[in-house]
Amino acid sequence: MNAAPKTLRQLRELRAAGLDPAGDRAALDQVAARYAIAITPAMADLIDAADPHDPIARQFIPDIAELQTRPEESPDPIGDHPHTPVEGVVHRYPDRVLLKLTAVCAVYCRFCFRREMVGPGAHALSPAQLDAAFAYIAAHPEIWEVILTGGDPLILSPRRLRDALSRLAEIEHVKVIRVHTRIPAVDPDRITPELVQALKLESKATYVVLHANHPRELTAEARAACARLVDAGVPMLSQSVLLRGVNDSPEVLGALMRAFVECRIKPYYLHHADLAPGTAHLRTTIEDGQTLMRALHGRLSGLCQPTYVLDIPGGHGKSPIGPIYLRQRESDAACEVEDFNGGRHCYPPPT
Ligand code: SF4
Repeated sequence: MNAAPKTLRQLRELRAAGLDPAGDRAALDQVAARYAIAITPAMADLIDAADPHDPIARQFIPDIAELQTRPEESPDPIGDHPHTPVEGVVHRYPDRVLLKLTAVCAVYCRFCFRREMVGPGAHALSPAQLDAAFAYIAAHPEIWEVILTGGDPLILSPRRLRDALSRLAEIEHVKVIRVHTRIPAVDPDRITPELVQALKLESKATYVVLHANHPRELTAEARAACARLVDAGVPMLSQSVLLRGVNDSPEVLGALMRAFVECRIKPYYLHHADLAPGTAHLRTTIEDGQTLMRALHGRLSGLCQPTYVLDIPGGHGKSPIGPIYLRQRESDAACEVEDFNGGRHCYPPPT
């Protein structure tokens, strides 16, 4: 009997699977020593090894370009550290916190904004650190929403997840729990009935936000995993990262947003790629991102429109970065509004 396929974690395992990364072997060893590798069987199966530009490979297979760190890049590109009052908690906005239960993921993305912090060797919160994190949330009544992130919180067993959610359920002022994950797409079998039940709380709303970047990631198995969550009453949103050579065309980005909506997942954020070390080859310009958003606005249902956002480097939070369809005319204080075909129309000033 053949053994079940495993997650690929070493360069030699990638080569044995026919997913040979291009480039000098010594340089690739340096990449692998610095940044974690993991490609689940579901993602490995999607890669077309004959295509040097395969968009799934580009997200997960190490690239020697990762050795080039630009001056503007930073190990903490969105500034988590200045907003970390206790280990594992990021309190950047008044009404919500991030809670990083684990630093482990099912896959390691080559563009990850926390690539210096996540990986199989990264430490998880100790029981004492977990106690301190829950105590911090309990002591801050302004915290309305807790976002479980990481790492990938759905890598935890249903029992550990249930324990964490039950502790949050005991905090009266926390009303909403949001779970950021790639698991329904990259390892759909992990979305078991037990895990779905662990996510459901009687007293709080739990949202699952799926991170996926290319429509091919939404396989039949991934769609079934999402349906298990949605059918159980867990609403889903999406987030995607705009990536050069992966989804930076109107056709691919539009197909991704439509695939989300077909899965009953409301497109939420399209992130401009963060200034993480060694990721310049995967970033677009903001101007490119705005052009793509205009194309989506012109082609797709309103249900398929995400908000294009930038996490401002230094920890200043997220802001929508356009494009802008409204501008004030200097001549007569009227507004000029652009329609979905690019036509401009006057909206009169108040009389
Ligand atoms: S799943 Fe998220 S946290 Fe994990 S490597 Fe990918 S982007 Fe980073």
